[in-house]
Amino acid sequence: MKSNKQRRLEIKTRRRKRAEVLKASPYGIYNYRPLIYIEADHLELGHNSYYQALPSYYADKPFKCRDCGANEIWKAASQKWWYEVAKGYIDSTAVHCRDCRIKRKREKEQQELHMEVMAKQSPHPNEVFFRKRY
Ligand SMILES: [Zn+2]
Repeated sequence: MKSNKQRRLEIKTRRRKRAEVLKASPYGIYNYRPLIYIEADHLELGHNSYYQALPSYYADKPFKCRDCGANEIWKAASQKWWYEVAKGYIDSTAVHCRDCRIKRKREKEQQELHMEVMAKQSPHPNEVFFRKRY
């Protein structure tokens, strides 16, 4: 008789192994079979227009990162969160791997910080332009 903890550890190990195999193989995403299915809650998907086909469940979904080309799995639980909690549209899908998402987020934050600093330092270019001319 196995305890729940042991069983959970086994499942985790199996998932990690599959993920490693998938990452190593360039064709991994094409013969990937999902392990996890999570039921969709159509009440939470009400922000989509009624004629769009709504999924009855989410399954782990492999994809290639648009920036670096890495194989990555969009987890069923993350899909549920994206569509039902963050209210993402049903046509939207994951395009960036975790590393690239973090990188992009950091770049965006730096850009915003830069803009804030610039705004404090100097007036808007339009202001300068009008002050000079009139
Ligand atoms: Zn990437």
